[in-house]
This record gives sequence, C-alpha cells and structure tokens, in this order.
Amino acid sequence: MAREYLKKAALTPKSDASSVHDTVVSILNDIEEGGDAKAMEYAAKFDQYEGNVLLTDEEIQAAIALVPEKLKQDIQFAHDNVRRFAELQKSTVANVEMEIQPGFVAGQKAIPVDAAGCYVPGGRYSHIASAIMTVTTAKVAGCKHITACSPPRPEVGVAPAIVYAAHICGADKIMAMGGVQGVASMTFGLFGLPKANILVGPGNQFVAEAKRILFGRVGIDMIAGPTDSLILADSGADAHIVATDLVSQAEHGYNSPVWLVTDDRALAQEVMTLVPQLIDDLPELNRDNAAAAWRDYAEVILCADREEMAATSDEYAPEHLTVQAEDLDWWLEHLTCYGSLFLGEETTVSYGDKATGTNHVLPTSRAANYTGGLSVHKYMKIVTWQRATREASKDVAIATARISRLEGMEGHARAADVRLAKYFPGQNFD
Ligand code: NAD
Repeated sequence: MAREYLKKAALTPKSDASSVHDTVVSILNDIEEGGDAKAMEYAAKFDQYEGNVLLTDEEIQAAIALVPEKLKQDIQFAHDNVRRFAELQKSTVANVEMEIQPGFVAGQKAIPVDAAGCYVPGGRYSHIASAIMTVTTAKVAGCKHITACSPPRPEVGVAPAIVYAAHICGADKIMAMGGVQGVASMTFGLFGLPKANILVGPGNQFVAEAKRILFGRVGIDMIAGPTDSLILADSGADAHIVATDLVSQAEHGYNSPVWLVTDDRALAQEVMTLVPQLIDDLPELNRDNAAAAWRDYAEVILCADREEMAATSDEYAPEHLTVQAEDLDWWLEHLTCYGSLFLGEETTVSYGDKATGTNHVLPTSRAANYTGGLSVHKYMKIVTWQRATREASKDVAIATARISRLEGMEGHARAADVRLAKYFPGQNFD
C-alpha cells in the first residue's frame, strides 16, 4: 500500500524569508559600527528595555531570590541530568596518537573553544531549559568564558528563573539582550565581553538568520528552524497520549509541524478527533500557536507496515521522534534520521525538552539527515599534530617531494629536500 495522507499540511515552514535577511543584515551592520550604544537602541526598540545589560552580582542575587524554592530544585535536577549526560559524551572524546610510519607519530586532540555565547530564547516563552542545555554543556566541554544572553522583558529584565539556571549551570556573564542585538553583542565582544568563538542555542527566525550570516566569523551549533516532531504509533498506542504529545509540540509556534505516522486507521482517526479538543483546552497563547500549527503544518500518514513507517520517518528526518509501538529495540535499530529519539510511551519529548539530560537543541527542517543536536563535541575543536625522528623523514620526504613536484609545488618539494640533505648528507634519493 502506498502511504495515505489522512491529513496533509497546507503549508511548508519557511524560516529564511528575504525580508528577515535584509532586516538582520542591517541590524548587524548598525551594531558593528555603533557598538554598545546601538545594541542598546535596538533593545529599546524591540524589547522596550533600557536597563542594565550585563547583570551585576547584586542583580543576579536579587533575581535568584525571586525564584520559588521548588523551581530551584527542579532546575538543579535538570542541570544534574544534563551535566551527567554531557560528561558521558565528553568521556567519548579521546586524545589519541599512533605511529603512522616507523618513527612518525600522528595524533588527535580535542580542545574546547575559549568563549561560548549561549542564546536563551525568551520572546514568546521563558526557555529556562535552553539555559540549562547550552550553558551546562559549554561548561562540561571546558569553555573558559561562557556568556548567557536572553531577551529582557520591559522594565523587568531577564526572567529570574533563566538568570538562576544560567548562574548555577556555569555562565560567567549573563546579558539582558535578545534577538540579533544579543547575538551581535556576543560575536563582536560588546559590553566588555570576550568575542564568542561559538554561538549556540535556539531562537526565532531573526536569531537563526543572524547566526547563519555570522557563521564563518564565529562557529555556530546549527541553524534552527521551527521545532518539528513526529510520532510513530501502532495499534497498541494510547490515542489520548499520542494526541497530547502532538499538541505538546504544536504549541511551540504557529509553524511548528507535528506528524503522526501509523499503520492503524482507527488510531489515526481517534487522534485526529482528540487533538482539536485538547488544543481548545490550552491557555490562549498556546492554543493559538497549536491551532495554527495543527491547521497548517500537521500531517497524519497511514502506512502499510512498520517498515514503511520507518522509511517515512527517515524521509521526514524529524527533530523529535517518538515511538509508541511494539518492539522498541527494532525501532532503535532501524531508524536512522532524527535529532532525538523517545522510545515508548513511558518517555516523551517534554521530558527531553526539560529534564532528562539529552540536549534539546536539535536539528530541525530535516537537518537530522546530516547532523545530531547540541553536545559537548560542538564546543570542541578536534585538531591534529605530528612529530618524527630524523630517520622517519627518509620515506616521507621522498614521497612528499615527488607528489609536490607533480602538483607543480616546488616550494613544498624543497621543504622535503632540505631535510633529506641535512639528515642524510651525501645520499641520493632521486
Ligand atoms: P527569541 O528570544 O528567539 O526572540 C526574541 C527576540 O526577537 C527579541 O528580543 C527581539 O529582539 C527579536 N525580534 C522580534 N521581532 C523582531 C523584528 N521584527 N525585527 C527584529 N528583531 C525582532 O524568542 P521567540 O521569538 O519566542 O522564539 C523562540 C524560538 O526558539 C521559537 O521558534 C522556538 O520554537 C525555538 N526553540 C527551539 C528549541 C530547539 O531546541 N529547537 C528550543 C526552545 C525554543
């Protein structure tokens, strides 16, 4: 059976409109020229904020005092899990070396970048978890200077819980600055910050476009588009849980696609009845986001069997992939394109988004075809080195000189010749 669309998306998410590009280029140019004062002008314009930009210790402590004790414990819980998982990832990065030829040793080293700029979105929702995900991972990687930057609310500044999370996760500086002006400040080293070597963290289309434009001059984790999620469910799945999970991801934004792929028509129909009811029951802002996402971007796809379901899922390469079906090991073995995989009803994307330790900064818009999400590895440079005995130069120099001359690179060839002449005087290697 060919796959059947019980619901097809009316629109395709677009996060890179040319008007956004032009706006971002002009803001970046303005700020590069105008420095701190220009960045603050944009903060006033876009976020109606004219307060202090780099939080002082007193401001950090005052914000922390506003965070309820229970929430502090929850943030600490999530931080501990993210830290432990990042430490596991770091343990897989080995500094290695081998004798590649007798007397010639080549090695690889992982060196953390010096300065990380962590963008913590805060326009629509207060993304406390993004502070935990980006700052903790930078800290475990070993970055020396970590800045967390997040949009301020008018007159209030950065949400206290974001300040608390950034602080306990290891941010050296916390900056009240959002959008392009936040990204620019970290890249250009404004407000006395070290220039960032890497910019990480999710954000809206302005943030994503700024990172895309600045890439090269600064490293980036990835270019994030709207969040997307896919659920694979078979006849044993709980329709209410499937529907709730779809809605939980549709609330991210009006253009956040959610996809259900199943081999059970009855389940699909039940979920399609439940989703609008669950959306209606959300608070207003979330309801508007989820309703638009469901109306314009959601799909429900009926497949013949699990092989076709897995192939469909790999084609969509979702950021978040959930399996609510039998034989989880089979799915773990066969699925190949996803940012993060959630196996079984007992876990859910919300757990991973907030607290279970795997990172929630993940590839969107099918980028899972070629990359995973944020990890300690993104903050680390894998570099190489070599050294040799004089004796080892013999074979290497001869091969190098010949290859170089064939390429027409006489200077390269002579760098080899000069060593042969010095280490093996009187010998002819033609
Ligand atoms: P945000 O912090 O990304 O953006 C807010 C900033 O946008 C403001 O500070 C303002 O400066 C700027 N801005 C707003 N309108 C502008 C305009 N017209 N011109 C120039 N700048 C403008 O917060 P947000 O808007 O709520 O977006 C957060 C995004 O992050 C969402 O798309 C969400 O899905 C995404 N997100 C993704 C993940 C992930 O892992 N993929 C996790 C959390 C959040």
